[in-house]
Amino acid sequence: MSDAPRVLIVEDDASIAQFVAASLSASGLLPSSVATAGEALAALARPPQLLVVDLGLPDMDGVDLIAQVRSVWSGPILVLSARTQEAQKIAALDAGADDYLTKPFSVGELLARVRAMLRRAATGPVQLPLLRVGALVLDREAHQLQRDGVALHLTPIEFRLFERLAQVPGKVVTHRQLLADVWGSDQVDQLQYLRIYMGHLRAKIEADPAQPRYLLTELGLGYRLADE
Ligand code: CA
Repeated sequence: MSDAPRVLIVEDDASIAQFVAASLSASGLLPSSVATAGEALAALARPPQLLVVDLGLPDMDGVDLIAQVRSVWSGPILVLSARTQEAQKIAALDAGADDYLTKPFSVGELLARVRAMLRRAATGPVQLPLLRVGALVLDREAHQLQRDGVALHLTPIEFRLFERLAQVPGKVVTHRQLLADVWGSDQVDQLQYLRIYMGHLRAKIEADPAQPRYLLTELGLGYRLADE
């Protein structure tokens, strides 16, 4: 039991903290809870395997907490946000959070996110030459994406866009992160580029571009590559 991953929950709403802790503990993890950002920073002296952070904390904005945490700790961070905190959610992802859940969420959603994050953290960034997702195979060395064994003809930007999402399968990448990494840091506001190229990419990859199976939209946030 002592080898079970430790999860630090930062949430000032006692009923949510308790719900999250009980769900994690029932699935074999070792949760502990603190109610303030100050306590969270102190608790990082004994680093957990995963951090769950509520964005609305009494002593500090959750986004600021994430930015501070990122200067000392690089493990996975899951954000809990209310529906009224859309802008903060994006800021939290840009500040270095890995994924998010919008309240109210179910035990199933919580555990699925947590499991995926712990799995990614255990295997490290995916940089193997070959990545397989469903019928897709990304061959990084050959600079090629195949579907059902047939090479797709992608433009350099389409390829970079897919490759950027494929660095973190299953994880949301924000619009700003994609624009900065594919087009350059001076292009982070050019949301229309991203929409246009994502449309092109879907037309080449998806069986039904209107109901994508691989390139998933995170409304108002960014995109994620399905991880299975
Ligand atoms: Ca709160």
